[in-house]
Amino acid sequence: MSNDIFFLAEFADGAPQRSALELAAGATELAAASGGNVVALAYGPGAGDGAAGLGAHGVARAIVLRDDAAPAITAGPAAVEAVRAASPLAVLAPATPNGRDLAAALVGLADLPAFGPVRAVRVVDGIVETEQATLQGSVVTTSRPVDGAPQPSVVLVLANTFTPTEAGSGTAEVSRAEASDHPFTLATIVESHPADAAVVNLEEATVIVAGGRGIGSAEGFGQLDELAAALGGAVGASRAAADAGWVPYQLQIGQTGKVVKPALYIGLGISGAIQHRVGMQTAEHVIAVNKDPDAPIGEFADLFVVGDLFQIVPKLTAEIRRRKG
Ligand SMILES: Cc1cc2nc3c(=O)[nH]c(=O)nc-3n(C[C@H](O)[C@H](O)[C@H](O)COP(=O)(O)OP(=O)(O)OC[C@H]3O[C@@H](n4cnc5c(N)ncnc54)[C@H](O)[C@@H]3O)c2cc1C
Repeated sequence: MSNDIFFLAEFADGAPQRSALELAAGATELAAASGGNVVALAYGPGAGDGAAGLGAHGVARAIVLRDDAAPAITAGPAAVEAVRAASPLAVLAPATPNGRDLAAALVGLADLPAFGPVRAVRVVDGIVETEQATLQGSVVTTSRPVDGAPQPSVVLVLANTFTPTEAGSGTAEVSRAEASDHPFTLATIVESHPADAAVVNLEEATVIVAGGRGIGSAEGFGQLDELAAALGGAVGASRAAADAGWVPYQLQIGQTGKVVKPALYIGLGISGAIQHRVGMQTAEHVIAVNKDPDAPIGEFADLFVVGDLFQIVPKLTAEIRRRKG
């Protein structure tokens, strides 16, 4: 058994995804408390080329599980081998669709204790401790593995729990997992296209484009779908928009809706009432577009654009698409 902290590091086109950089920061924090090393289990297209670069984010070693475009779950058997060989204290997994799949495969194939999705994880006296919000955030539970539980604990970590560190200069030592013929590996992706923004889980979204009464109709939300898709984000709403039936209640942010913590929240046609604000005030950056210069959201937005959202949003979406090529 070791005190190392492993984490699942997802790659696309050779670059670590934001979830990987967040978990590298989290694993570094935990490893400082446990006295172990930080080890990445890298997967996804180009992971083999990009894994060494994780060294710039505190990662000592990276094990490339797979670096093709196969479903994440197919990396499960390789993850099990890597974890069995080192018996780390914890494996942090991002609470993304791929992260959940791979974490579930790891837990199920290796019979390990599982936690999450959590908003906090730490090492206390050599033991992994997690905090999870339940019942719409009204109750916070603290959990640990029981005495004698097998190591590692596998912990699903919600987006934005940790903040990526600035890149330093290190390089991770990279090794490759042995190819496996386990039945889990026998699935392949035949086609992929960008997901419908509306199905992205709001609480896990890194970017949220939220609309309020100012959107005016269900059709008006189509523009928000497009902006969210261009940014790789999710659409949210105020209660006024949900009450009007323009979007389902699952998209409502606020006191009686979801509590979100994206890196970027864009509020369009939302006044910023306190009941909405309590659901999004921990967003890292807030941009608001409102035609009323005195709208309360202007008081706490980092960038407050006074203008007609119907003039601004299409141009913004087009410009983002142009820059993304
Ligand atoms: C117990 C309780 C619980 C509540 N829970 C929630 C909750 O969970 N979530 C929530 O959101 N609310 C909640 N509310 C309601 C809350 O008080 C507000 O009524 C609601 O947030 C207002 O929604 P809004 O900002 O979309 O609408 P409004 O306050 O009507 O604001 C619409 C904004 O759009 C702007 N606008 C209009 N047209 C344009 C345009 N073309 N371009 C740019 N800007 C434009 C206007 O200037 C205005 O500022 C709750 C209320 C109560 C009493």
